[in-house]
Amino acid sequence: MKNFFDKLYKGTKKDFFVELQRRLDGGEKTFIVTANPEAFMYGEKDNIVRKLLLDKSTTVVADGIGLVKAAKMLDIDIPERIPGIDIAQQLLQFGNDTKKTIFLFGAKQEVLDALKQKIGKEYPDINILGMCNGYVEDKNKVFETIEELEPDIILVALGMPVQEKLIYESLDKFNKGIFVGVGGSFDVLSGTKKRAPEFFIKHNLEWLYRIAKEPSRIRRFYDNNIKFLFKINKEKK
Ligand code: UDP
Repeated sequence: MKNFFDKLYKGTKKDFFVELQRRLDGGEKTFIVTANPEAFMYGEKDNIVRKLLLDKSTTVVADGIGLVKAAKMLDIDIPERIPGIDIAQQLLQFGNDTKKTIFLFGAKQEVLDALKQKIGKEYPDINILGMCNGYVEDKNKVFETIEELEPDIILVALGMPVQEKLIYESLDKFNKGIFVGVGGSFDVLSGTKKRAPEFFIKHNLEWLYRIAKEPSRIRRFYDNNIKFLFKINKEKK
């Protein structure tokens, strides 16, 4: 587990966005994993997830506050969380400013339709090369289409770890592109789901808001966060 923390991006959100813009401008192929405790727990039991979390070519950022706090317990300084949704938003902004191309893969069709409208209005200079909802059977085939289109930005919203595994499997076939697994971000960016109110975000309680809104998440939260804390405590000793 400690090796996952050693690999985590250690800069601030601002540093990260400067680097992201540089990479986008330079067409530097980049795979960003927005990790939370659940991702690290997957890494413990799933070889592919472990490999992609530790791979030198991936950039792993702490999306969840659980990782920031756990890092502190292990004496590793992670200044703040860098939420996947903020990365998606920044990429839309940078992409709009510099007229880049994008592909959106994941979420329900109606969510994508709403997102397309929103992007058209708020980021009119970004060129959506293609979109595909996340409920198609052959997800590898979608990646073949993305390969042909060669977009500058590829956002994959299928949930962890499906989105990361798919990206990782195909990455070698690409020469450029910023790839990010963004979980439930399309639901929020499209306006279909509400993000937590500012108070929750500011006090790092976004996780609590999500559980309160969707109580079915409790089991998942327990399995991945409470057990995670026990593991970290053990590791510390
Ligand atoms: N999703 C999808 N195809 C699937 C399962 C999920 O496109 O087969 C989408 C789902 O619609 C949602 C996202 O993946 O937009 C995952 O959301 P969730 O909030 O569960 O992800 P998290 O951010 O918690 O990883």
